[in-house]
Amino acid sequence: MTIRQLLIALLKSGPHTARDLSVAAHLPEKDVTFHLEHVRRSVGRSLIIEPAECLACGYVFADRRRLTKPGKCPRCRSTRIGPPLFSVAG
Ligand SMILES: [Zn+2]
Repeated sequence: MTIRQLLIALLKSGPHTARDLSVAAHLPEKDVTFHLEHVRRSVGRSLIIEPAECLACGYVFADRRRLTKPGKCPRCRSTRIGPPLFSVAG
């Protein structure tokens, strides 16, 4: 099984953060993000992203296209950001 097949299998089993995937696949988190970009290209709209959210004020990063966790909330400047959750439908 390739890394991407493994990631897709994990994502089909339920929502995961990049950190969860990093632990499960024994990969650095930045490699997970790299592979997720390719997963997004191959599965298209089946990749479901629950956006990152500011834990301080509840701001949701709904328009964000990048898969990495944002560093800072644009509304309240907090760095307490809940990471995005990824899953694959079907
Ligand atoms: Zn905020």
